Amino acid sequence: MVLSCPNCKSKDIGKIGVNQYYCWGCFIELSVSKGMVHTHQVEEDGTLSSLDDLFHEDDRQISM
Ligand SMILES: [Zn+2]
Repeated sequence: MVLSCPNCKSKDIGKIGVNQYYCWGCFIELSVSKGMVHTHQVEEDGTLSSLDDLFHEDDRQISM
């Protein structure tokens, strides 16, 4: 599985949990389910907000 960040295209992705990843390129959280990458921004207060609206589905699909 090749996981790259939909936002910055970086492949410098760290695993932080089950199906959860962190992009060291642009510091967003990525989660993976059903072959789709979901993107989340960590706000200053620690909450996550979804960034999925910013990306086309094609850019969030995982190439196996
Ligand atoms: Zn990134």
